[in-house]
Amino acid sequence: MQHLVWFRNDLRTADNPALHAAMQESDSVLAVYIDCPGQWREHGNSPIQRDFLSRNLQSLSEALAELGVSLSVLECDRFDEVPALLSAFVKEQEVDALYANRDIGINERRRDKAVQQQLNIPCRVFNGDCVINHGSIATQNGEMYKVFTPYSRAWLSTLKAQGYRLLPVPEAMSRACKAVKVALSGEMKDSSDWHAGEPAAQQALAHFCAESLAGYGELRDYPAVEGTSRLSPYLALGILSPNQCLAAIEAELGALPFGKGEQGFSWLNEIIWREFYRHLLVAFPRLSMNRAFKPETEALQWSQGDDVFKAWCEGQTGYPIVDAAMRCLKSTGWMHNRLRMIVASFLTKDLHIDWHRGEAWFMAHLIDGELAANNGGWQWAAGTGADAAPYFRVFNPATQSERFDASGDFIRRWVPELGDVPAKYIHAPHGWLREHRRESDYASPVVDHARARKYAIAMFDALKDKE
Ligand code: FAD
Repeated sequence: MQHLVWFRNDLRTADNPALHAAMQESDSVLAVYIDCPGQWREHGNSPIQRDFLSRNLQSLSEALAELGVSLSVLECDRFDEVPALLSAFVKEQEVDALYANRDIGINERRRDKAVQQQLNIPCRVFNGDCVINHGSIATQNGEMYKVFTPYSRAWLSTLKAQGYRLLPVPEAMSRACKAVKVALSGEMKDSSDWHAGEPAAQQALAHFCAESLAGYGELRDYPAVEGTSRLSPYLALGILSPNQCLAAIEAELGALPFGKGEQGFSWLNEIIWREFYRHLLVAFPRLSMNRAFKPETEALQWSQGDDVFKAWCEGQTGYPIVDAAMRCLKSTGWMHNRLRMIVASFLTKDLHIDWHRGEAWFMAHLIDGELAANNGGWQWAAGTGADAAPYFRVFNPATQSERFDASGDFIRRWVPELGDVPAKYIHAPHGWLREHRRESDYASPVVDHARARKYAIAMFDALKDKE
């Protein structure tokens, strides 16, 4: 009996339910990864994430070879070619059952359905991407929660009741096998600032828990310090599982923190946010189709503003915290969560530009680009998403900057034009620059925040008038 494990966004050997089950049920297991460069381009994922993917596939191939499982990397341009390709591979290799962990985007789900219809062997699908399985957290009416706080309460009580199961790396099979050389095609950007592979991800997790978990609640909002885990690139490709994050919290703190004031709770809460957006994506397929979570907001009259959009992308808006964040993204492929919220609010509420354009720009540059979290984050910021806060929450970029980068250290790192501006003036530096005859050093503000805020609120008010 030859079983086949189809790897997708679960590039790990530990805590991998599909791999674990296949290796328990057969002593002859093969693995496959199907690269679809055309689909990758269509989904708008970034060249830096593609490089990271390629390097992690190489590590996976080596880790699987040690278990006696050989990984084949196949290629076809788009998802609709996958069923035929996989079917031919299954016949050629005389596979009698397919194992995979669930993928959650709508195109992925359609692809998987087509594969199941085409193959005439059993296809077994597992939950490998969330602690709590999709669909198992519901309101009394059996519906998915639309607001985070009640969802998180229900998530915590489900976890308390059922716990979580961490699967070990399966025992190696007796046959020896060789790792393949992975070479994906397509545009790549060097991702070597991030170590690839499961051991690197585990090390980063252990390091975070030992050094920063306890102080996370206090430091997580300050982009100039390393207060967050920076594990998102690993979680996005499934090199790390959320169960492993929970186990690491327990290893550090002794028990999972279930209450708000408990140490480690704020980090656990981020894992819950991750699951919230993933569960939403499955429950509301329209989120995978460029649609707003709140359908009525699709009538919002966004502005075209190509020049200001370009200024935002390039970090030339004249708002230092926004510019520092956007330059950091373009250069490194990563951005701190507080900054993601600030720049997303700025694009949608100050520049009045459609959140889809920001979502796409993020996807094209992030190393951790991931549909559920990216779409959720953008719609949250734009006021079109699953969020209890009123639409008139508009971040003031200067106030945010004063609170979360008070010394201006993060700004100075990315906006060298402002290197010698004193902390007191760096958040809104144009008066100081004028006084020192240095106006030409740095972009003028592309918009007046107070006026832009009023306009944004009016845009949303106009929606109410249409009701
Ligand atoms: P930590 O603070 O250490 O959190 C641990 C993990 O929890 C993260 O790695 C991530 O997997 C998850 N997480 C944390 N915050 C969130 C959140 N708000 N929503 C969902 N999951 C979360 N995250 C992505 O992984 N990919 C994206 O494409 C993405 N796009 C975003 C776009 C916008 C506009 C916003 C506001 C947020 C976005 N996020 C995205 C969520 C969040 O900003 C990142 O997950 C976080 O900054 C990653 O850093 P970290 O690993 O140090 O996080």
